[in-house]
Amino acid sequence: MSTQASASQPVAEIGVIGGSGFYSFLDDVEEVRVDTPFGPPSDPIAIGELAGRRVAFVPRHGRDHRFPPHKIPYRANLWALRSLGVRQVLAPCAVGSLTPDLGPGTLAVPDQLADRTSGRDQTFYDQGAAVHVSFSDPYCPTGRRAAVESARTSGWEPVDRGTLVVIEGPRFSTRAESRWFASQGWTLIGMTGHPEAVLARELALCYTSLCLVTDLDAGIEEGEGVTMEEVLRVFGENIDRLRGVVAEAVKALPAERTCACATVLDGIKLPLELP
Ligand SMILES: [Zn+2]
Repeated sequence: MSTQASASQPVAEIGVIGGSGFYSFLDDVEEVRVDTPFGPPSDPIAIGELAGRRVAFVPRHGRDHRFPPHKIPYRANLWALRSLGVRQVLAPCAVGSLTPDLGPGTLAVPDQLADRTSGRDQTFYDQGAAVHVSFSDPYCPTGRRAAVESARTSGWEPVDRGTLVVIEGPRFSTRAESRWFASQGWTLIGMTGHPEAVLARELALCYTSLCLVTDLDAGIEEGEGVTMEEVLRVFGENIDRLRGVVAEAVKALPAERTCACATVLDGIKLPLELP
C-alpha cells in the first residue's frame, strides 16, 4: 500500500473537492489513482494547472455520482489529497437555505458548522493515541477571505458568514427538523460538508466551503418542500459562475501558509504517520 507521492507521481498544492462539473476548469489534466490506508478515494484524482498553480480535483460523489452523501469515502479523499502534496482545499457544494434572506442562487462562505450526521467515520485517529484537534473555527480564515474576495471580483456578492448544519441524509429534512435548525440560528443545510471539514483539520489542511444555495429548506417553504429536480435546476444555472469563483480563489490562495491550520498538529503525538 503506497500512501506517499512517489518521485514520478504528479503533485499538487491546492485541492478542490466538488461535483463533476469541475473537471473542465483544469488544463493539462492527468489522472492519478491513489490508494490510502482508508481505501481508494471517490475516483482517480485529476491533477492539472490553473493560473500557474498545481490543482488536484476529487469528484466528491465519484464521476458517475455513485456515492450518496453518507457513503462518500471522506477519509480516503482527504488522505489522498495530502499524499499528493495538497495543503489547501476548496470545497464547493450545494446547500439548502434555512432563512428566506438567502434565496436560491445565493453564494455563502460559512464561518461555522454544526454536525448532525451520524454513523460516518469522523477521524483518522481511531486507535493508538487520543488526538483532539482544535475545531472551534472549522474553516480556514485565509481560504475564506480568498473565496469572499474572489466572489466579489467576479461580481457575485457573497454572504460572508453563516452556520452550515450537515445532516446525514440522503433524505431531506422534515419541516419540524428544518424549523428546529433555523431556530438555532443556523442558516445553511447540506449533506457533504462534514466530516470533510474535520478530516481536513486532522491532516492540518486548510479547508474552505463555498456554498451555493439551491433551495429553501422544508421549514420555510410552503407546498412540496425540497425536490431533487429544483436542486439540480438551480445548480445547473449557477455552475459556470461557481466554477469561475473557485478558479479565482485558487489564484488568490497564498503560496506559503501563515494560518493556524498549518500548525494545528504541532506538539501532538500522532498514532499515524501522515503522508
Ligand atoms: Zn488555513
